[in-house]
Amino acid sequence: MDVILRNALINGGLTDVGIEDGVISQLEPKLEGRAKLELDAGGCLTVPAFVNGHLHACKSDWRSSLLALEPNFDFTDMSARFAGIARVKRQYTAADVLARAETTVRLAVRHGTCAMRLFADVDADAGLQALEGLLQLKTKYAGTLELQVAAFPQNGVFSAADSTTELMTQALDMGTDVVGGIPWLEPTVDAQLAHIDLVLELARRYNKPAHFVLDDTDDPTSRTAELVAARVIELGMQGMVSGTQANALAYYDDAHAERVIRLLKSSGMTIFSNAHVALVTTAQRHQPAPRGHTRILELLRAGVPVATAQDDIDNPYYPFGRNDLLEVAQYMAHLAPLAWGAQLNQTLAMVTHVPAKAIGLEGYGLSVGCKANLLVLNAPNWFEAIKLQCEKTFVIAHGKLISSSQRSTTLNLP
Ligand SMILES: [Zn+2]
Repeated sequence: MDVILRNALINGGLTDVGIEDGVISQLEPKLEGRAKLELDAGGCLTVPAFVNGHLHACKSDWRSSLLALEPNFDFTDMSARFAGIARVKRQYTAADVLARAETTVRLAVRHGTCAMRLFADVDADAGLQALEGLLQLKTKYAGTLELQVAAFPQNGVFSAADSTTELMTQALDMGTDVVGGIPWLEPTVDAQLAHIDLVLELARRYNKPAHFVLDDTDDPTSRTAELVAARVIELGMQGMVSGTQANALAYYDDAHAERVIRLLKSSGMTIFSNAHVALVTTAQRHQPAPRGHTRILELLRAGVPVATAQDDIDNPYYPFGRNDLLEVAQYMAHLAPLAWGAQLNQTLAMVTHVPAKAIGLEGYGLSVGCKANLLVLNAPNWFEAIKLQCEKTFVIAHGKLISSSQRSTTLNLP
């Protein structure tokens, strides 16, 4: 046996986990014998390693790059932020993207994530530099982390430079795993439909999944979630397409929203609601200020799979982020809200099984035969883990201990 993780709290019972050749080979209350590496979970909650299904890794930690170009940059002005990121992207090199993205990936590992879908901007500003950097990162960590790279036309396709369609095709020829799209940015419904068709056509031609950012706005006329869902159903592409945000859904009247939710359900799409980003970016023009995220509880009630992801780290859309899905789950508990009693367990599914299924991970879970990607949280249950934002004691990927942490405080009080 390569590894035995002893006294792991799994599904409410104490279990020893035996790991061989990167796979969970035994689950018993007490395993006999010794392994090359023995770890003691100490009765703490053990879950499958977190899965981050949506991260704009190429844009992470943009602040230092931007301040090098413009030392007095005004971060409070949203349009200035977007102009600023365009300037930064024109300076991208594959090496620079690799270095910044690697920092965020290592943070993710330290916080218990072993699988990520990383988005690379592919447009006239970034060219293919971001994609090249993220593909190099994927190669570097192959066999340890499950990294997928999505080619993402961040500036739109038909509203942007003519070269984007050609760049997207080149990106797929370079080995991109996922075709990204952002149709709501296009200026007309016709252009949105053409954008959706282009992305789905590329996905079919290259046999890759598609992942759209949908209606990331408070504009109630933005309807790309329903346009994508309808097209996915028409083309029989259920299971191949995910969506992120769908925030305009919260601004439709209830009857229209119900119809769109039914379409989403039929489309088989998972919706990634990265609600903490909406909180600081979706326009806050009127009082009472809306929270800006999608109808999370209604989607769940209708049976639409809902996941949550880090999405952004120190970029024009979101200034914070530790790539810690325990923190993201806590935001989700507040914003959905899913804060009370058994509801809270849904936030665990949103950072584990739901995104794992959405991005097509094989052998995910804590059964015998699953890949040994495990996380030991220093807490007796998920409620305490969320409440205290506990330390991640052990992170195991493909049967190897890749991170261990402990937190220590000394209180000098009476
Ligand atoms: Zn995003």
